[in-house]
Amino acid sequence: MEKVLQTNIRNARKLLHNKVFTPTDLLNACLDRVKETQHLNAFITLTTKEALLASTQSNEIYQKSNDRNELDGIPIAIKDNFCTAGIKTTCASKILENFTPTYNATVYKRLCEAGAVLIGKTNLDQFAMGSGTVDSIYGSTKNSWGFKNTEDFCIAGGSSGGSAVAVATGTCYGAIGSDTGGSTRNPASYCGVVGLKPTYGLVSRLGLIPLVNSMDVPGILTRYVDDAAILLNAIAGHDPDDSTTLTKPYKSIRLPSAKQLSVKGLKIGIPVEYACENLDPEVLETWNDIAAMLENSGAAVKQVSLPHTEFSIVCYSILNQCEVASNMARYDGIEFGYRADENESTEKLYSKTRSVGFNEVVRNRILTGNYFLLTRNYEKYFNQALKVRRLIADDFYNVWEDVQVLLTPTTLSTAPKYKDFVQKTNRDQCAMQDFCTQPANMAGIPAVSIPIKLSKTGLPISLQIMGRKLSEPMILALAKFIENAVQFRKQ
Ligand code: GLN
Repeated sequence: MEKVLQTNIRNARKLLHNKVFTPTDLLNACLDRVKETQHLNAFITLTTKEALLASTQSNEIYQKSNDRNELDGIPIAIKDNFCTAGIKTTCASKILENFTPTYNATVYKRLCEAGAVLIGKTNLDQFAMGSGTVDSIYGSTKNSWGFKNTEDFCIAGGSSGGSAVAVATGTCYGAIGSDTGGSTRNPASYCGVVGLKPTYGLVSRLGLIPLVNSMDVPGILTRYVDDAAILLNAIAGHDPDDSTTLTKPYKSIRLPSAKQLSVKGLKIGIPVEYACENLDPEVLETWNDIAAMLENSGAAVKQVSLPHTEFSIVCYSILNQCEVASNMARYDGIEFGYRADENESTEKLYSKTRSVGFNEVVRNRILTGNYFLLTRNYEKYFNQALKVRRLIADDFYNVWEDVQVLLTPTTLSTAPKYKDFVQKTNRDQCAMQDFCTQPANMAGIPAVSIPIKLSKTGLPISLQIMGRKLSEPMILALAKFIENAVQFRKQ
């Protein structure tokens, strides 16, 4: 069974089809694996009861008919900032510690319709604000790579660290994360799995508890590129209940087989700005090696420039905090979530609820965001940042005249040790961690992180591919080509 838990979705389905085991057997193997890896703290809530019910339904489907959905009986996990009806959805925060939504996020609804079996809700940085999964009221998630003990471990990356570890350790075949500035790709990079951030608006945000509405997108974490395409096919497409989703009908992606894959003539850009000061030499070397490998395989690789990259982090940070300030206003202790024991005045109730219910990171972002939004500052900060955002997006539009895709590092280094990571503030960490990932969110373009090799210290090194809007078929095909060439999972 150990091997089955490391295989891809297509193979798992074949084994289910051939009745080598039932969906419930598969689920139980996954749940055993969850127990074995409990010390890594990937899950906030296990949905064992619901999973057993769903897998029993799948058992019948595999018994009786050949008419099955793409994900029938396949165990998956979802980040705990997606609403799941009747199942707690906490955002790893005190304020939503006991919050049980009454409706399902569209992403979860579609996964259920495709037959997937939810095994649990995964850990994150509070309200997805972070890049380490170290700021959760349930404690930090630990990376399985380089793990020595619960004192000495590497961070999982974040904010979807729980989802990345769940996939990396074989507790499920895929997991949903969210990606506002890199939260799917960053942990994917550190945990050695595939992390896809789709085009903004391709996947519904309904029921994804908002961080930055203009950048949020549900992300996908899997061990194989093919599996990312299968999950994307299940969740993508217009949602009448999310007016920001694209109305153009979604066409399912069928990636070429490994043998048919080719990069001949593909124009790949290497943006010089991403070779920044803090880039680890081993990551740089890996980046150069893969560019050379692609060139040798027939691609046209050339250096390009995205001149506004250096302003991206500051601009992202301002816009992020402004949208956070407005999004967090709904948590007032009145309608839902935690309410402080305070009845002197409504104002006092608000203030106590919010100062106790949010951690320091969230409180800081609310304060700073409101400062930027003050009448006297609005022009200077918020509006200015919107203009710079346009310039950053334009950099990408201009570069597509020259190349079809971009190849960059995903993160500047391998996963940092927890004790080093927490020396810096959340803001300083985000400035470092999101450097390569957040520009794609500012421009709304798709990006995928793909593991390449292990560093000298035995930690995953990953690269990122970005493409123009709706170029998922192209960037995933290139990711699959690289996956096939480097054989990371065999390393
Ligand atoms: N690290 C970034 C932030 O804290 C990204 C978060 C995300 O993508 N959810 O804003």
